[in-house]
Amino acid sequence: MFDEKALSVLKRMTESFGPSGFERETARIVRDYMKEYADEILSDKLGSLVYVLKGDKERPHVLLAGHIDEVGFVVSGIDEKTGFLTFNPLGGWWDQVLLSQRVVVRTSKGDLMGVIAAKPPHILTAEERKKLVTKDKMYIDIGASSKEEAEEMGVKIGDPVVPWSPFSLLRNGKIAMGKAFDDRIGAFIMMETIRRIKEEGTDHPNTVYGAATVQEEVGLRGAQTVAHLVDPDVGIVLEVDISGDVPGIEPPKAPTRLGKGPSLVTFDGSMIPNQPLKEFVIKTAEDIGVPLQLSHVARGGTDAGKIHLNRVGCPSVVIGVPTRHIHSHVGLLSIEDAENAVKLVVELIKRLDEKRVKSFTAI
Ligand SMILES: [Zn+2]
Repeated sequence: MFDEKALSVLKRMTESFGPSGFERETARIVRDYMKEYADEILSDKLGSLVYVLKGDKERPHVLLAGHIDEVGFVVSGIDEKTGFLTFNPLGGWWDQVLLSQRVVVRTSKGDLMGVIAAKPPHILTAEERKKLVTKDKMYIDIGASSKEEAEEMGVKIGDPVVPWSPFSLLRNGKIAMGKAFDDRIGAFIMMETIRRIKEEGTDHPNTVYGAATVQEEVGLRGAQTVAHLVDPDVGIVLEVDISGDVPGIEPPKAPTRLGKGPSLVTFDGSMIPNQPLKEFVIKTAEDIGVPLQLSHVARGGTDAGKIHLNRVGCPSVVIGVPTRHIHSHVGLLSIEDAENAVKLVVELIKRLDEKRVKSFTAI
């Protein structure tokens, strides 16, 4: 199981400030943790970091990718009369999860705490109470009472905003609760996989490139530049999956369950995985006794959407950790699922030699 050191970096990563395009704080946490485990550290010019782990052979290049950006907002204006802030979303948000949630606004003068304002029920008409308030009608209250006050506090148009949400462990450490598991848990699995291979001196017939990518939530942008940098022969994207064990979610929409193992995404809006690679992952999980759930996501995509289209194509697959309530202030996931994902990815890396990787694209 993950040690104290690992759980502490997971906590720091999820609590760190890093919406799409503003990932530096999170990237530094990842970099400091990985310094001792990587043989080399590369970076693209968009902010992504890549940790190289040299094995017995230079090729195949095995790319592990987890994105470190999180869904957030950018300030779009300050209300003239009240000093409340309007905002644009960074990534996909459902309006209903936002009212009266705490947020952090990062300004050049420092961080400000705020709350997305909600009207009290006393002054709402029966009609208004039934209606969904949309983001374009929401405001962040930072305690200012005029535009001048908000500006004095340091707020400018374009300042980034993230949910405020501390990390907690529930059920004796079995369940983690916090923000930004999408996709800091994926980056964390990448980091622990590399750490484990390094610490245990595991032989692997390839070179591993562990990427912490940026700007996934706004269109898989970091994955594109990272794929160009790494020139992968095989891609393993580590992500959250949508856990369907929530009242009201029908199994066909989200077949995975918390605590039943990592998942293998068989289809999503951005990629149909390489089929021999998919079968290889299923077989490997069986061989080592790691439970694996098959899943699909009808809409949306992952970094694999870009990676599998790199140059002439790159066999890719997405391994997920089922997570409840993603794209909100608080998600829940099973630590054991993350641990099993690390076990599985370590084993895949051990088996990904040149011959096997070539077989994925043989016709
Ligand atoms: Zn996401």
